[in-house]
Amino acid sequence: MLVSAKEMLNKAREGKYAVGQFNINNLEWTKAILLTAQENNSPVILGVSEGAGKYMCGYKTVVGMVKGMLEELNITVPVALHLDHGSFEGAKKCIEAGFSSVMFDGSHYPIEENIAKTKELVATCNNLGLSLEAEVGSIGGEEDGVIGAGECADPDECKQIADLGVTMLAAGIGNIHGKYPENWAGLSFETLEAVKAKVGDMPLVLHGGTGIPEDMIKKAISLGVAKINVNTECQLSFQAATRKYIEEGKDQQGKGFDPRKLLAPGFEAIKATVKEKMELFGSINKA
Ligand SMILES: [Zn+2]
Repeated sequence: MLVSAKEMLNKAREGKYAVGQFNINNLEWTKAILLTAQENNSPVILGVSEGAGKYMCGYKTVVGMVKGMLEELNITVPVALHLDHGSFEGAKKCIEAGFSSVMFDGSHYPIEENIAKTKELVATCNNLGLSLEAEVGSIGGEEDGVIGAGECADPDECKQIADLGVTMLAAGIGNIHGKYPENWAGLSFETLEAVKAKVGDMPLVLHGGTGIPEDMIKKAISLGVAKINVNTECQLSFQAATRKYIEEGKDQQGKGFDPRKLLAPGFEAIKATVKEKMELFGSINKA
């Protein structure tokens, strides 16, 4: 059964660990992440961007696939199915389709409009027992067509949004989607501390988890980050393993062309990356 992310994130915040959000793209991705969570007794959040939702033939298809897997694979750890960087309309569609959690990214709107739209979704999500993530201060880089400037969030604006009753808050603290540039300045812990001081117990979300040094991840968790998003890193592991398989000519040996064989190394690579992240975030055996 899909659950809201609320309880798992509140537990994580109290226990000083973080739950990973791993974005899915297809059946292999979803299966790899769910099995890894179950094998490691870890709560998990499956992230779906609007682009990936479209790619997987719409939100209803995603809900059907995920719910089917929970049952057929006997997944008993807490799993939330979450819209990543949703538009206002996208969030409503996912709620209708049966997602257990949504993010509304209103960071590109003027703060008044971000507040008004977030407020409307808070009411809907509260009624249905779903979790809602809001964003203040856009996150840098590009993720699935959503381009952010990489600003540091205004702590007062964070408080305004947190006070609306959202479940968790993504605040820009110098983090970037995708690969980090060589000259990246690092996370702004000053911003994170200032945001935390304003929003109190609200679980904070760190986007762009690929390539942030381990010590920064651990420090961010100690300062109130309870959810960390990982997307690019699974794509890179899948790509490297698939490339290796083909470069070694394995697709041309025997039945190596069978998609179930061709995609197997990438599948295993995603599992390894997810496990590594769960270890780093401290969520193993916290289900
Ligand atoms: Zn993000």
